[in-house]
Amino acid sequence: MYDYLIVGAGLFGSVFAHEATKRGKKCLVIDKRSHIGGNIYCENTEGINVHKYGAHIFHTNNKKIWDYVNNFVEFNRYTNSPVANYKGEIYNMPFNMNTFNKLWGVITPQEAKDKIEEQKKEAGITEPQNLEEQAISLIGTDIYEKLVKGYTEKQWGRSAKDLPAFIIKRLPVRFTYDNNYFNDRYQGIPIGGYNKIIEKMLEGSDIRLEIDFFENREELEALAKKTLFTGMIDQYYNYKYGVLEYRSLQFETTIVNTENYQGNAVVNYTDRETPYTRVIEHKHFEFGTQEKTVITKEYPTEWKSGDEPYYPINDQRNNELYNKYKELADEEKNVIFGGRLATYKYYDMHQVIGAALTTVEKEFADK
Ligand code: FAD
Repeated sequence: MYDYLIVGAGLFGSVFAHEATKRGKKCLVIDKRSHIGGNIYCENTEGINVHKYGAHIFHTNNKKIWDYVNNFVEFNRYTNSPVANYKGEIYNMPFNMNTFNKLWGVITPQEAKDKIEEQKKEAGITEPQNLEEQAISLIGTDIYEKLVKGYTEKQWGRSAKDLPAFIIKRLPVRFTYDNNYFNDRYQGIPIGGYNKIIEKMLEGSDIRLEIDFFENREELEALAKKTLFTGMIDQYYNYKYGVLEYRSLQFETTIVNTENYQGNAVVNYTDRETPYTRVIEHKHFEFGTQEKTVITKEYPTEWKSGDEPYYPINDQRNNELYNKYKELADEEKNVIFGGRLATYKYYDMHQVIGAALTTVEKEFADK
């Protein structure tokens, strides 16, 4: 008899399995995919760690979590500095003095501030009625037209005029020549890829792959005293209140017979016409020097049941629906829910580790 059946070998399930095993518990970890790691899984192609479910850059301000992951693997010094390609013009991201210099030829922060203020004034928007007006009221027309509009419309699959203003609360603008995307104190990519972290975390647990919990539910539950569930919460309750909605993505990965395809790990395509939002060149996450390269084009797509659920749509309808499922989940005695799918939340990796450690503390507090 296992102490825990862990449904999902992603980061949440793996942190829990590691901590439970450390405390002498026996865990069975299952996943419906053919590999461990969930969405942080890397596939080795041409000697390059390919981020199969989208580019993953680890970043955090929390020293405890940084120390925690560094127990499993060493991190390199990768710093995320994406560039934007707008119809062949290249701009630095996030919006900073390099971007403003390229756009307007301004040199000093004051000149850049004056330019943005002038454009905001010209637009004359006092009460933004949609995302377009909201963005222009925050950063002016030039940045909006070249770097925000097309990208956002592709991401959401509709015109910025039809999207609510609240989606963009602020657009980070930096008046220094600093291309580092994150403000966090710690960031990097695990040397040798993310799989190393998960493999270490799952040492001591039994693992069964290509097993869908819902196809063998009773049989699996009978194997353990308790279940940790990291799959979709609405599916757990057989969608009895309705289906929670997501945005999805499609990835098109190609091996290119050149050593260096785009000179950067992440290039955003910010025009409306290019159908993908980003091109990832995976080798640059680890400063790779392989002969060939692997690139992935990322296409945002509508989600329908059965597609890979990537981004929860946390609007009022879905949040209310989730709360109804959460009420049921809170009543469960022998099932713990955790991770991005079971809590219907977008979590970065450091947040999912933090949430898993909180669950561990609660679960083992008096044991
Ligand atoms: P998952 O990794 O999804 O793991 C859940 C697992 O459960 C999956 O393996 C799934 O197959 C399994 N499962 C589900 N249902 C069943 C079932 N019925 N039976 C058996 N198994 C089941 N975070 C960052 O910090 N930095 C980034 O740069 C970053 N980039 C991202 C880019 C994209 C495109 C996406 C979508 C996310 C990104 N994230 C990033 C977030 C990161 O992926 C998550 O924080 C993390 O993977 C969540 O772990 P999890 O264990 O909650 O979920």
